[in-house]
Amino acid sequence: MKSVAIVGGGITGLTAAYRLHRKNIPVTVYEAAPRVGGVINTERREGFLAESGPNSLLETSPKITSLIKDLGLENRRLYSNPAGNKRYVVRGRKPVPLPGSPAAFFTTPLFSIGAKLRLVAEPFIRRSPESLEESLAQFVKRRIGAEFLDYAINPFVGGVYAGDPERLSVRQAFPKLHALEQRYGSLILGQFLGARERRRRKEVSKQSAKQLSFDEGLRVLPATLESILGDRVRLGASALRIQRHSEGWKLGVREGGKEVESGHSAILFTGSTHRLADLRITTPEPLDVGMFSEIHYPPVASVALGFRRSDVEHPLDGFGMLIPEVERFHILGSLFSSTLFPNRAPDGHVLLTNFIGGTRSPDLALLDLEEMERLILEDLGVLLGVRGKPVYRHCVVYQKAIPQYEIGYSRFKDRMSELEKRAPGFFLAGNFRNGIALSDSIVAGHDAADRIEKFLGSRENPPDSATLTDIPPTTA
Ligand SMILES: Cc1cc2nc3c(=O)[nH]c(=O)nc-3n(C[C@H](O)[C@H](O)[C@H](O)COP(=O)(O)OP(=O)(O)OC[C@H]3O[C@@H](n4cnc5c(N)ncnc54)[C@H](O)[C@@H]3O)c2cc1C
Repeated sequence: MKSVAIVGGGITGLTAAYRLHRKNIPVTVYEAAPRVGGVINTERREGFLAESGPNSLLETSPKITSLIKDLGLENRRLYSNPAGNKRYVVRGRKPVPLPGSPAAFFTTPLFSIGAKLRLVAEPFIRRSPESLEESLAQFVKRRIGAEFLDYAINPFVGGVYAGDPERLSVRQAFPKLHALEQRYGSLILGQFLGARERRRRKEVSKQSAKQLSFDEGLRVLPATLESILGDRVRLGASALRIQRHSEGWKLGVREGGKEVESGHSAILFTGSTHRLADLRITTPEPLDVGMFSEIHYPPVASVALGFRRSDVEHPLDGFGMLIPEVERFHILGSLFSSTLFPNRAPDGHVLLTNFIGGTRSPDLALLDLEEMERLILEDLGVLLGVRGKPVYRHCVVYQKAIPQYEIGYSRFKDRMSELEKRAPGFFLAGNFRNGIALSDSIVAGHDAADRIEKFLGSRENPPDSATLTDIPPTTA
């Protein structure tokens, strides 16, 4: 059997490749970059271990737990420090802990009495019509009020999506939240009632899932997958053209300065959507992928800074702090990385990972490093009492960081489903379709492998000849 081509060696592509490989289905991974992992990017230098992409993985699904076990990584897995359950949100130019219990909720200074009473009324707010596509901001204002939008949802969305709740679609970006309202008529009631169903599916909600990393950071995961897949992974290999032909698929790739073509039984695309829009796809029925270039990916800079412990006043006793837009700082938030996992900073030092840019202020992600660092230090000085200069810095700018599931995103998802239907054997999976968290990408890769296995099994019934004649290599 010809191998399945996996375009993209990020975590989605590698997970899919590994699962197919375990099922004895041959695979070839084509990765444009000189290394695997996609946005996962760990650096160990001068005693610091910095993550510029994802910092932790949420163990939301048994598929993630099994992957770690199958890879033999259980003894390298690190669960986050329990102190990491404490999260700060900035209010009145000070980090204030998010309440961790119902009792703490009623006493926290983070929300006014009016906002707390408004929350209590949530179960009595009517659900919206199913057909209405609301922004996250509209949804939150309607159900729990404007103060929760400003001081809970806005900073949270800045931290997770680097996005804007006014633009994100609640149905697409937070489908579980939307489903809670539709199903139970209330987010609060749904939280309790939905827990039973999750337990039945052996799933864990993102709020209560354990956070993990590895002794040498998240790069351990893609690096281990790469070492198992061996020469099935081709680095510096950028997919350019895809063509359906009589025996399956041909993939045109630029590799080592040359264009090469190889035959495959199926193709799974896991790259970003602007790269998908650039692909030339030739199939019996024209497939228009141009619209995918419209998907918004804001730039984000991740700036890890190491300090002497004595230069930081704040106890850093938590996961980090998120900053609401109304508080008017430059950064979106800061992770207390050396609190979260051990060995992230040398003795007597701390590591803070700061994010800047996103939909809120894209230009800030594109400043030169010196100016960016000046603004970050200004914020950290006010918020965490950081006084000295950093002794370590590591900055990575993601020009197109995270796909934004904004209002109208369903048209992109519908087109993805249509493509798969009209081009059997061509599959799409990744953070542009299946959720933006690392955990979502692992589950997406796992599930894509199962869909491909099913397709290859069903090919024993040959498709009709009209769709399988060789097609001249013109762009559709
Ligand atoms: C700054 C940042 C912080 C984040 N923090 C967290 C976090 O703390 N927790 C969390 O759960 N999630 C986090 N995320 C999100 C999460 O990391 C990603 O959504 C997830 O890792 C995406 O994996 P992927 O494989 O789908 O895509 P990617 O990692 O983008 O991988 C796609 C790969 O495809 C390759 N590619 C693209 N086109 C082609 C082509 N034509 N030919 C060959 N190769 C191609 C690319 O080079 C890339 O390596 C963060 C993301 C960013 C950017």
